[in-house]
Amino acid sequence: MPGVTIDKNHCKGCELCVQACPQQILSMSKEITVRGYFYAYAHDPSRCIGCMICAITCPDAAIEVHSNGTQYQLFAY
Ligand code: SF4
Ligand code: SF4
Repeated sequence: MPGVTIDKNHCKGCELCVQACPQQILSMSKEITVRGYFYAYAHDPSRCIGCMICAITCPDAAIEVHSNGTQYQLFAY
C-alpha cells in the first residue's frame, strides 16, 4: 500500500505539496518545528495513491513516497 513520509525538520512550510496532492490528503500543522515553520503532514495517509507528485513538488526534498514495498527517495540528504 502506498504511503508518504514527511520529514518535518526539513519542511519550510511553503504549502506547495498541500496544493499539489490530487487526493488532498496533506495539511499544514498548527505546531511549529524547531526552525519555526508550520510543517506539512498527511491527515489521511490511507488514501495516498503513491503518485509522488508531492515529493516532486517539494523544493526541500522533505517528502518520501513508498509504494508496493519499494521506497522512492528523490534526493539523499
Ligand atoms: S504520493 Fe500523491 S497521493 Fe500520496 S500524498 Fe503525495 S501527492 Fe498525495
Ligand atoms: S512542499 Fe516540502 S517544504 Fe513545502 S510544505 Fe510541503 S513538505 Fe514542506
